[in-house]
Amino acid sequence: MSKLVIVGTVAFDAIETPFGKTEKILGGAATYIGLAASQFKVKGAIVSIVGGDFPKEDLKMLESKGMDLSGLEIVEEGKTFFWSGRYHNDMNTRDTLITDLNVLADFDPQVPQEYTDAEVVMLGNLHPLVQLSVLEQMVSPNLIVLDTMNFWMDSALDDLQKVIGKVDVVTINDEEARQLSGEYSLVKAAQKIMQMGPDYVVIKKGEHGALLFGEDDVFFAPAMPLREVFDPTGAGDTFAGGFTGYLAKTGNFSFENMKNAVINGSALASFCVEKFGPERLLNLSGKEMFQRIQQFKSLTQFDIKLT
Ligand code: AMP
Repeated sequence: MSKLVIVGTVAFDAIETPFGKTEKILGGAATYIGLAASQFKVKGAIVSIVGGDFPKEDLKMLESKGMDLSGLEIVEEGKTFFWSGRYHNDMNTRDTLITDLNVLADFDPQVPQEYTDAEVVMLGNLHPLVQLSVLEQMVSPNLIVLDTMNFWMDSALDDLQKVIGKVDVVTINDEEARQLSGEYSLVKAAQKIMQMGPDYVVIKKGEHGALLFGEDDVFFAPAMPLREVFDPTGAGDTFAGGFTGYLAKTGNFSFENMKNAVINGSALASFCVEKFGPERLLNLSGKEMFQRIQQFKSLTQFDIKLT
């Protein structure tokens, strides 16, 4: 079992979807990544920052999921990162209403000493310079996965390209892949992103599944057709957490095993969207996860005779 370092926001979110609206609830990329990775019982550490307003029970909850929080800085007099978004009727697109960086504006990440030798690093959505600083503290990780979003492409593109040049896998959604590469075709977009450095690119397409690209290989995983989709927030991060958690658990970073990681990430993301915020991930059982992966298998399995 590999050690996993997770960097990303631990945050408050306020979300509006066609099905309802929340006040400030627990959110943040690292929260979703950590909760998803915890399904694989990995030894994980969250590197992040919160203000004194962040509930102690949420910290305890993350610890109870096996997350080491010694790299999570608490600025008692500061306020926690806050994001607010409103989804359109199709639930695949959303508008960001508010991004208050708060304590994140002066974040100087510190990887706990015990985790500087971790084999797997998940650079969740954060300022690319923070992602770079985390990488500089690592001894020699075997697998570095990066997730990002349009916010950083708009505000820190040069730094983002620098960090992309140092990672093995980029996970990104379809619109962001198009923005980053300047290509409409997702095949060409993935190729252009791989030319920036990574060996693999995962393009997340929301309810249309995910594509995994390697140099000469492509794999497609569908999204589970769900009866209820309440809130897609965090689905991308949950996918990334499931993907890296599975790889950290198995220690096999081949393209073949990444296919299994994509299926595990997709299964976890399909649970995430069933309730508002991370609620559905909090008491997800191993049995439910097993059953959903079986459903994924039968969803795509067919036997065709080619003559
Ligand atoms: P996702 O729906 O997977 O894109 O992730 C949503 C999560 O990302 C929310 O919980 C937010 O707190 C967090 N988030 C939103 N904007 C940013 C940003 N600019 N940087 C880091 N995290 C963000």
